[in-house]
Amino acid sequence: MRDEAMLFNSGVLTGEREGALLPPRELWEEKKGGLVVVECPQRIPCNPCHTSCPTAAIRPFADINDTPTVDHSKCTGCTLCVASCPGLACFVIDLTFSEDRALYKLPYEMLPVPEKGETFQCLDREGNPIGEGTVENVTQPKKDRTYVVHVSAPKEMLRQFRSIKVVRGK
Ligand code: SF4
Ligand code: SF4
Repeated sequence: MRDEAMLFNSGVLTGEREGALLPPRELWEEKKGGLVVVECPQRIPCNPCHTSCPTAAIRPFADINDTPTVDHSKCTGCTLCVASCPGLACFVIDLTFSEDRALYKLPYEMLPVPEKGETFQCLDREGNPIGEGTVENVTQPKKDRTYVVHVSAPKEMLRQFRSIKVVRGK
């Protein structure tokens, strides 16, 4: 209850994974292309994560105000939901990228658009720097919608890394 109160006061998810939908670890470790992580714990009238998903991995909403639920076995890691979610609450994380690094596919709405090879600061949910990552790719899965930046970074950041910031001077 304390975590819930903190979430609604600050707008930041608190606690280990309060309100987050994490893939089952065994499936996640083996899934090339990655699996979706959704951090959307508040009831709001919104469902593009579901309507954009070509495999119904984000299940149909009984009520538009429902919070999303996920069948990770149906997720292909396509990132269409990442580009469609107005709350920037969907990510795809690929744990098969390398032994010690994951590929984090994050929504990005700032300009200029990042370029492959650029180095970025990795930020946690509160905007605190937690390390550095490298841009491996930038896509725009839905025309005129949010870009998706693919950043390689250490796997230890899995539970904290949620956005990026340009490292000035690099
Ligand atoms: S990444 Fe693709 S398949 Fe997975 S939940 Fe999002 S839209 Fe659906
Ligand atoms: S589209 Fe994003 S903000 Fe809207 S319900 Fe889905 S995850 Fe939440």
